[in-house]
Amino acid sequence: MFLMIIGKIKKNEKKIKFQLDLFCTNCGKSVPGGMQASENYYDSDSFKIEIDNFKKNYLCGLCRDAKRIKDKI
Ligand SMILES: [Zn+2]
Repeated sequence: MFLMIIGKIKKNEKKIKFQLDLFCTNCGKSVPGGMQASENYYDSDSFKIEIDNFKKNYLCGLCRDAKRIKDKI
């Protein structure tokens, strides 16, 4: 479980917390993701695009570590 901020949240902006069902793009493992975004950003089109890209590139912790090790060699 983690909490990720999508986009930028200004100091006085209202925050929205939401859940994303994330699936690792490598092993297919499902990871519940706690996310946070500012209220203004949450309604915007760029937010939807960013979430889409985030999901498309998402790797679970294990696969991310494995990739990091592979990149080093
Ligand atoms: Zn994985």
